[in-house]
Amino acid sequence: MIEESYPILKNRSFQIETVERILDSLDKKFIILDSPTGSGKTIMSLVIADFLWKKEDLITHIAVRTNEQIKRYLQDSLEKVKTLVKVFPNKRKTCPIFYKSNLSGEEIYCSDCMFRKATYPKERLFKRLRKVNYNFEKLAKIENKKMEKRNDKVRCIYHSFKKIESKIYVSTYPYVFNYYLFDLLSLEGEPDILIMDESHNLLTTLTNPLSLSFRVYLEKGFGKRKEENLLYKFLKEEIAAIGDLLNIPNEDIGIVLSEISNFSDELINFIENLLVKQFRTREINIIIERIKKEIGKKEVIIEREELLDIFDRYSKTFDELIFYWDSYKKTISKMTYKFPKKRWHLNKILKLYLSLKDPDLVWIANGFKIEGFITKFNVIIKSLMDYKNIILMSGSNFTKKDFVTLYKVPSEDVEYIKVDVKFGKKEFNIIPNFSSKYEKRKSKKNIQNLIDNIKFILNNLDGYQLYMFPSAGFMNLIFDQLSEEIKERIFLDDGTKPFNSILKTNKKAIFTYARSRFIEGVELVKDGSSLLKTVVIVGKPYPPPPTASILTNRILKDNKLDYWTFAEIMKDIQIKQVIGRAIRSQNDEVKIFFIDDRYKKSEVIKYFK
Ligand code: SF4
Repeated sequence: MIEESYPILKNRSFQIETVERILDSLDKKFIILDSPTGSGKTIMSLVIADFLWKKEDLITHIAVRTNEQIKRYLQDSLEKVKTLVKVFPNKRKTCPIFYKSNLSGEEIYCSDCMFRKATYPKERLFKRLRKVNYNFEKLAKIENKKMEKRNDKVRCIYHSFKKIESKIYVSTYPYVFNYYLFDLLSLEGEPDILIMDESHNLLTTLTNPLSLSFRVYLEKGFGKRKEENLLYKFLKEEIAAIGDLLNIPNEDIGIVLSEISNFSDELINFIENLLVKQFRTREINIIIERIKKEIGKKEVIIEREELLDIFDRYSKTFDELIFYWDSYKKTISKMTYKFPKKRWHLNKILKLYLSLKDPDLVWIANGFKIEGFITKFNVIIKSLMDYKNIILMSGSNFTKKDFVTLYKVPSEDVEYIKVDVKFGKKEFNIIPNFSSKYEKRKSKKNIQNLIDNIKFILNNLDGYQLYMFPSAGFMNLIFDQLSEEIKERIFLDDGTKPFNSILKTNKKAIFTYARSRFIEGVELVKDGSSLLKTVVIVGKPYPPPPTASILTNRILKDNKLDYWTFAEIMKDIQIKQVIGRAIRSQNDEVKIFFIDDRYKKSEVIKYFK
């Protein structure tokens, strides 16, 4: 029946069957779909959403991780499923004014903006989208350029999307989990169903909503105070610019700056003490080296109240700054030809201040970073409960048992659907002459064996190779011990470079680590096929044990889990994810190496079923 309405499903029997099974399971609160990469989850999601719209008048919210994925939904909705979607992308990336800033969606106010009503009609928007291959960020960039050239035909891409009439919303994850953004989306009509793409992220990306680095203030400014404090230097510059634009009297700005100078000293002092606690030295060069190699690096819990106290001591100044900052952004949006510079330190500090008020976040210092984590999984699940049904889709999904164990939802509320279809050709080998066990990991013989394995694979296999290490520190440690000739051939994931930039180099091997951005969902694809021909899984990608990680310890306690239950689930997700990087189409072929003496054939085989 369904294929008659959706010709795209013709001859795709497993997709028809899956869509029908999902539609038949809507009496369950949660539906988990485990379906391999390349099996058409985008098409299936759009068909389900369109069916529920046309037949039941229901609103479906499809939440994805990145703007890249939104583009795919946009393209497939128009070209394959022949339906319309209302897109809620990252506001900054579709806003001609703040396109180059580091503001997040909820920090951009449209109410006073002169472009709010300057939108493209639907057909013109689609025509332009097709021209740029659905890269709507490019459209925003073009509009941004028009502003710079003082062209008076600037259009707002964000609001052009919002004008499309559809009961299918496609957004990035924050629209599910951030109250402000969810309300914004609900103003268009409250969604009934949630389809969450790459839902394994419930256990990874989504548990870490905030990560702020203080490296830029400390690498060259450790121990510096007052006018020399680098945080203060940046803030001073920005506050002065705001004062200029808003015509705030110098005297008032002077008072704010004097308070912010004291605040910056207190905050930097606090963060420096966290570093000293982690590395037991005040020598910044030693700290930098140890962070790079993860030597002696350990997570330190930040007492939220203690950090919040620093901000609260200056709360009057911050109230004023928040007012100035909001007025500044509103003023900018009323003017045509001026927009803020790229990175705002003030924005970063205010974000930290506001996030510290969230009682659900646990704060951890990790090297130069201060990170907020949601350690109680029920907090995440609670954000989903307003939807009638939650369809969780992933190629690395939870099993029903794992989901019930982690999220403590009644088993009878969960339907589990596994798509039994094979994609691509996968061959695997287990190399047992190395162990990533914490106590053995750094032994000389162990490391030498691993290096020999890497050299062998590098020298004997063609195509791009992806190596996943159990941690960034261990990856750096091994990288440093390779010969210069081998190092030259490796593209090292330093946490900043985009994955695809390897294509601009002559390197063929990528070194990354478990739970990195590269593992979360990047592709190296040419003409629809994966360029990755080899995947090397170094060690078992378990999370660090509770004895080595305060965060793991906290997660286990907050969710009443034992380490091995949690670790096995995390490991399975990481392995399925890294294999999924190499299989993007039916014809892809990949060789996978599992390097660890703890891998058994009977265990590994489950990743290929
Ligand atoms: S251009 Fe104006 S209306 Fe459009 S997103 Fe930006 S601030 Fe909002």
